[in-house]
Amino acid sequence: MKYVHLCIITLWALLLTACSTPQIRFAPGEIPHPPPSTVEEIAAGEQVKSSFLKDIPLEEDPAYTKRVERVLRRLLAVTPSSGHWPTYVLDHDLWNAMTTTGNYIFVFRGLLDDLKKDDELAAVLAHEISHRLAKHHEKTSEEKWKSALRDLTTVAAGILVASSEHSTQRQVGEMMNTTHQVMSGLTTNPYSQTREREADLVGLFLMADAGYDPYASAKLWRDQAEKTGAVGVSSAFFSTHPPSSERSHFAFHHAELAEKRYKQAKRRGPPKLKPPRKRYEPTYKQEMLYKQAFDLHRGGQYEDALAKTKQLQRLAPRYDEATSLHAVNLAKVGKLAESEKLLKKLIMKNPHDSQARYNLACVSALRGKKEYALQHLDAAVDIDPGYGSFARDDPDFSSLENTPEFLSITKERSLPVEGERGRNTFTINNR
Ligand SMILES: [Zn+2]
Repeated sequence: MKYVHLCIITLWALLLTACSTPQIRFAPGEIPHPPPSTVEEIAAGEQVKSSFLKDIPLEEDPAYTKRVERVLRRLLAVTPSSGHWPTYVLDHDLWNAMTTTGNYIFVFRGLLDDLKKDDELAAVLAHEISHRLAKHHEKTSEEKWKSALRDLTTVAAGILVASSEHSTQRQVGEMMNTTHQVMSGLTTNPYSQTREREADLVGLFLMADAGYDPYASAKLWRDQAEKTGAVGVSSAFFSTHPPSSERSHFAFHHAELAEKRYKQAKRRGPPKLKPPRKRYEPTYKQEMLYKQAFDLHRGGQYEDALAKTKQLQRLAPRYDEATSLHAVNLAKVGKLAESEKLLKKLIMKNPHDSQARYNLACVSALRGKKEYALQHLDAAVDIDPGYGSFARDDPDFSSLENTPEFLSITKERSLPVEGERGRNTFTINNR
């Protein structure tokens, strides 16, 4: 894998189509401040992650993950966006990193092996974060994600074959040409190239604010231009991205502006890292209220239970266990829309909350949103396979029972239930 270096490609770049004159929407130095991801965006990202991890294993050497986390934490400390940034280092030679909706970030080992300096890695990660801040892939349908993913995996596999020891440089070039054609069919270039420049521009100032040298970005792309030039393949290989040499000039031009911010950041010292969010500690009174609500619920007195959890929502809105029980109580008394809203809030707070995912699947099924129900059930089973068997006997899913998707989620992939599932996983619709 010595002589194959690709520009960074991002999934979104394959998916856009041009329809208007592309223009950079941000002024140099401007860092957009987007609203948090929606639960649908997180679900789409989660799906891409699952598909990826089926084909490419996670890197096992913790040194790689630690390095990415170290750089990422500093960048996120100056990023004006809350929420989770689930990050995965993939064990693959590809020189690449990418991002999806829901702030999922993927970094390939090949990139980390090549970029020795943290400033260079920061340039790549800041670019990826900036795609998210600029909301570059919001209206992407699930089908498009899936097909882009298939293409990317094909490219990844092709590059591995071509870069094996026995391939000649000519073969590598031919393979690259073929994949180039695949890519150009998926995108109309000027639009996505503008988005790339936007991410480069925002990223430059983000890395400067985090105390990383913005000139590292120019150097990175200059090195790429030299390397890709060396094998006689155009560095504009992925037409979704501007050529490396052009990116280098672009970065160099704006690095002069960013340098001021970099120097300020250096004087301030390393950015204050955001402390990890602490689990909410309920007071004794709140805990007692929760217990009462729980017993009332188990006894089938849903209206009374609801009154208690409503009180808890007012007293302690960050008490997630109580919120979860409140959502189920709401569903029990038929307030499905309100319940759905609350469950979405829980998932946005913690995308790996399998119990909220499962309950949202139930509520969606009861509201007749079958596709949505399957999507969330799929995610819940992905996180905790025990939910598959649990769903099989859950009357909430009676409308889905005989669909092939439901059968595949609940039969093929689930493990036997061990012990009790989460305490607040209830069957909403008691037949
Ligand atoms: Zn990009």
